[in-house]
Amino acid sequence: RIVYVNGAYVPEEEATVSIFDRGFLFADAVYEVCAILDGKICEFEGHVERLIRSLGELDMGMPVSKEELLEIHRELIKRNNVEQGAIYLQITRGTADRDFVYKKDMKQTLVMFTQAKGLTEEKAGIRVVSAPDIRWGRRDIKTVQLLASSMCKTMAKAAGKDDAWLVQDGFVTEGSSSNAYIVTKDGKIVTRNLSTSILHGITRKAILRLAAELDMEIEERPFTIAEAQDAAEAFFTAATAFVYPVIEIDGVELNGGKPGPVAKRLNEVYIEESRKSYI
Ligand code: PMP
Repeated sequence: RIVYVNGAYVPEEEATVSIFDRGFLFADAVYEVCAILDGKICEFEGHVERLIRSLGELDMGMPVSKEELLEIHRELIKRNNVEQGAIYLQITRGTADRDFVYKKDMKQTLVMFTQAKGLTEEKAGIRVVSAPDIRWGRRDIKTVQLLASSMCKTMAKAAGKDDAWLVQDGFVTEGSSSNAYIVTKDGKIVTRNLSTSILHGITRKAILRLAAELDMEIEERPFTIAEAQDAAEAFFTAATAFVYPVIEIDGVELNGGKPGPVAKRLNEVYIEESRKSYI
């Protein structure tokens, strides 16, 4: 695989970052992941907009222009010949001797790589378990501080399930790396309202817009695991998962253990719309 590191396209074995990089020492870094569909980039504008916001919240700017960033995305997809998959970018504050205090305007590190994987296959649905949300308080900033999420998902896998839905003060915040939704028995789509408690998903925004266009009723509010277990169906969204059905929550099957119709429909519509707007 050819990856990108600070201006150079190199084989992955040759890409290096300093051990003094603050991304490595302090998780002082943000990231974004865009889906690649038909060799093109989905929702690029939305992801860059969120990236700029994440950087701003951490007192950083963009190391390259938006146009340059798009060019690197395209070049990397081309060099790796990716039809479907993910393209990951990470920006760290840069390299300095270890010190909790960071300096303004450091030379940032920018790395990017692609991951080929199928995105449009039929989705079987996943089984989730709940876990306490032990992440930090600014989940709206997309930092690489992902250990809590990683531990929760690993715990879910060890329990023979697929992912964890995180719970704080009795309510679901989101999935370990996705936004969480239920569909009530009277057909309303419920997903947690935006705040610092969750990541403001780019797919979430698109799906809520599409659902509204399809005249589906939407409620942006917190829900409990018990309400989710009693729902008609459940699903999650993330850039490279699109709309993915959830068929079991803490051992309780939804929709007879089969993917629900709303998730299926929204996934189809999302792929259709992506094919109209990807760049
Ligand atoms: N929440 C969390 C915690 C995430 O890590 C992600 C992305 N992987 C999402 C939600 C979904 O965001 P997006 O639709 O922008 O990928």
